[in-house]
Amino acid sequence: MTDNELKGIFERGLFKGAINFEQPLSAYTSLKIGGPVEIMVFPEDLTSLKNVLITAYREKIPIFVLGAGTNLLVRDGGVHGIAVSLKAFKNIEVIQNIKRVAPHLSYQKGSDDFTGLFVEAGVPLGSVINFMKGKGYSGIEELAGIPGTFGGAVYMNAGAFHKEMKDVIVSVALMKPDGSIVIVGRDELTFTYRSSNIPAHTVILSANIALKRDIPENVALRVNEYLKEKRQSQPIGAPSAGCVFKNPEGHSAGRLIEAAGCKGMRAGDIEVNSLHANYFINKGSATCKDFIHLMDIVIKRVEKHSGITLEPEIKIVGRDD
Ligand SMILES: Cc1cc2nc3c(=O)[nH]c(=O)nc-3n(C[C@H](O)[C@H](O)[C@H](O)COP(=O)(O)OP(=O)(O)OC[C@H]3O[C@@H](n4cnc5c(N)ncnc54)[C@H](O)[C@@H]3O)c2cc1C
Repeated sequence: MTDNELKGIFERGLFKGAINFEQPLSAYTSLKIGGPVEIMVFPEDLTSLKNVLITAYREKIPIFVLGAGTNLLVRDGGVHGIAVSLKAFKNIEVIQNIKRVAPHLSYQKGSDDFTGLFVEAGVPLGSVINFMKGKGYSGIEELAGIPGTFGGAVYMNAGAFHKEMKDVIVSVALMKPDGSIVIVGRDELTFTYRSSNIPAHTVILSANIALKRDIPENVALRVNEYLKEKRQSQPIGAPSAGCVFKNPEGHSAGRLIEAAGCKGMRAGDIEVNSLHANYFINKGSATCKDFIHLMDIVIKRVEKHSGITLEPEIKIVGRDD
């Protein structure tokens, strides 16, 4: 798709929202790393999103869905194609009849002390937690402090303290690359550790989640406890993409990295964090090349020390220079 074709959609009134060209993704990722994306769109409604997707589908232009960029390492050469941001999709609504649509969730059986939420993909996960706190809805307090959007959390099956998004999901609304919308029930979805079977070029529009009713003060108490624990053990204010590597079965990646003597190691402006070794921090103007170089060094050191091969949890996208 050429700039003109996209501008054409825009001019003919088929797209509502901003379109930017050659935007550096370092401005859209928590790591502050990444080359430019050819086209970046911020559709404001479903029709605009659909028109971009079907035009890209027809022209065979790759689509990349960008959440808040908190789990992304974008290569220095940037991304070919179109990045779609759903930040305009930010509704949260209470669902009154969740019992009818989610009979499989065990805590619902024979009880009325639950409720449902419809949440659009662009809502920050933190806003969902705040909404739950305000209303007294319980279920994912453990995820407090995880940055990013609700859509990103669903796609990644974000989790903490033995709780994951999959534990509360009832159904997910998806827009397929041809612009069609499908509602997929929880039993048709496979969620594993920091991963889902939602295809990469499919857009998560929203999801329905089921939560228990509780007293707001109890929910707030738990949220604050998890937040405190997270703040004490992780550098959540520094420019990072969260945990770089997945925890291997039965191990903590952070402890393995620490035991291999990697804390404080540096490549260019990227540093293995001294509080939590599975976080790599951008200390200034780090590049993706630095980041990958440090990942390679850490992988080799951990392999040598423990015989375990670490695998990336972060999503690496784009092309080299
Ligand atoms: C300080 C810090 C702490 C963190 N702590 C945790 C933690 O405790 N637990 C944890 O699980 N993660 C953690 N993370 C990682 C990250 O916050 C989560 O993975 C988060 O859910 C990613 O959401 P996002 O909107 O930023 O997604 P992005 O990083 O923008 O994207 C991640 C992936 O999701 C896809 N995606 C995003 N939105 C959509 C959509 N609407 N439709 C389809 N695909 C989509 C993207 O294409 C990409 O492949 C942490 C990150 C940081 C920086």
